[in-house]
Amino acid sequence: MSTLLEVSGVSVSFDGFRAINNLSFQIGAAEMRAIIGPNGAGKTTFMDIVTGKTRPDEGRVIWGEKSVSLLKLSEAQIARAGVGRKFQRPTVFEDQSVFDNLLLALKKDRNPLAVLFYKRGPTDTEKVVALAEQIGLNEQLYRKSGELSHGQKQWLEIGMLLAQEPQLLLVDEPAAGMTPEEREHTTSILVEAAKTRAVVVVEHDMEFVRRLNCKVTVLHEGSVLAEGSLDHVTSNQEVIDVYLGR
Ligand code: ADP
Repeated sequence: MSTLLEVSGVSVSFDGFRAINNLSFQIGAAEMRAIIGPNGAGKTTFMDIVTGKTRPDEGRVIWGEKSVSLLKLSEAQIARAGVGRKFQRPTVFEDQSVFDNLLLALKKDRNPLAVLFYKRGPTDTEKVVALAEQIGLNEQLYRKSGELSHGQKQWLEIGMLLAQEPQLLLVDEPAAGMTPEEREHTTSILVEAAKTRAVVVVEHDMEFVRRLNCKVTVLHEGSVLAEGSLDHVTSNQEVIDVYLGR
């Protein structure tokens, strides 16, 4: 598998405190990866670095076949280069339908009124329907997004990110607050998405990580503590100690 993202020797300090400490690891081009670690391990800061929100003090962040340095790009340029990020709280347009939210995402438009002015070609409609099927909302296409359940809103937001065809999708605790059935569906959306792009899931819920059935990176104090299958990392004594706060 070719490497899509390489983080190498990255460190970040906030007021003298090293949140990320000589962090190095790689993500493959069509890989599902779970990132776990106790609170304060640096998971959010890692995502902030990849998306350009936080700039490291040291190290390299190299992207894609052309080995572009993400550190030289703005947040908007990084998004255009193919990095999509899903935050925990969904940011769908509640007054718009599922269809219109997906269409706006497809057009990379953040103005909900813009949808009034689109000439909807058959290709747009086909793409929106395909996206809705991918996230399992095809029967909700014309419902107002504000009427969707918490889980459905999360899927819609994943669909809106997929509309922009990212090569890397970063997702923060996608299953938080979901019912077991909703978690199951979230797993299948992400597993399907990871067939054609890299998906990195930051997650606390080990049962959810197990379902993803992927390589796991454990962060601790801003560095990689262990990496491998979930069974491998959870049988590592250092990982156990860190989780038990020893
Ligand atoms: P995680 O997502 O794994 O819980 P974070 O990346 O949010 O960890 O945080 C890592 C460490 O860096 C924590 O100790 C946190 O308090 C600190 N930190 C993160 N962002 C900032 C910031 N903007 N200013 C000061 N400290 C920060």
